[in-house]
Amino acid sequence: MDGQTMTAAPVLILLGPPGAGKGTQARMLEEKFGLVQLSTGDLLRAAVAQGTDAGKRAKSVMDAGGLVSDDIVIAILRDRLGEPDCAQGVILDGFPRTTVQAQALDQLLAETGQRIDAAISLEVDDTAMVTRISGRYTCAACGEGYHDAFKQPGQAGTCDRCGSTDMTRRADDKAETVASRLEAYHAQTAQLIGFYDEKGALTRIDAMGEIRDIATEMGAIVKTATAR
Ligand code: ADP
Repeated sequence: MDGQTMTAAPVLILLGPPGAGKGTQARMLEEKFGLVQLSTGDLLRAAVAQGTDAGKRAKSVMDAGGLVSDDIVIAILRDRLGEPDCAQGVILDGFPRTTVQAQALDQLLAETGQRIDAAISLEVDDTAMVTRISGRYTCAACGEGYHDAFKQPGQAGTCDRCGSTDMTRRADDKAETVASRLEAYHAQTAQLIGFYDEKGALTRIDAMGEIRDIATEMGAIVKTATAR
């Protein structure tokens, strides 16, 4: 946008395989920094639930643990990014997942005079991901995430955040599907770590530790990146 001064809203990207904790961390950053979490997985699940054309096309691919086509995902993301709340700044969780998506994002941001402030790679041990994913569940009312072994609510079955007792488990969180999701990550998404490293935007963090410790580290990265 022809050289004018911008007060561009922060744009952060979370990278990492399924189960790395992107959603959990994105929600914590959302609360701490007033940013908006944009999860293409959540947007696609909403499209499936609403029975939109995109949702109908995406459903079987998601159930099989593959990647939904770039055109569908990019269109969904573009629409969501254009909504007014995103002017506060966004944390992209689960997008981009392919080089085509990463290039589309660069183009979208260039159109609005924005740029990527940081891409954070949550580095984990693949073998632990199946256990992590197969034990997880979510509050259906507010989306807070829990885990059978690692993060139980204070009172069993009741959400700490909103008090709802309606908990759900994702259909694709079965061990067989998780294996396909990990495979898709390594085949198509892991290369984006190099893509953002080359741009000088990448920070890697060890995401095998405690949720709170990782959150503290992520908070420091976000603070530095958005202060620039
Ligand atoms: P996770 O990161 O735990 O695999 P998500 O909720 O981010 O879960 O994604 C769930 C599913 O939605 C993916 O397995 C894939 O089928 C689809 N999906 C989400 N984001 C994208 C994307 N950017 N590109 C293609 N497919 C996507």
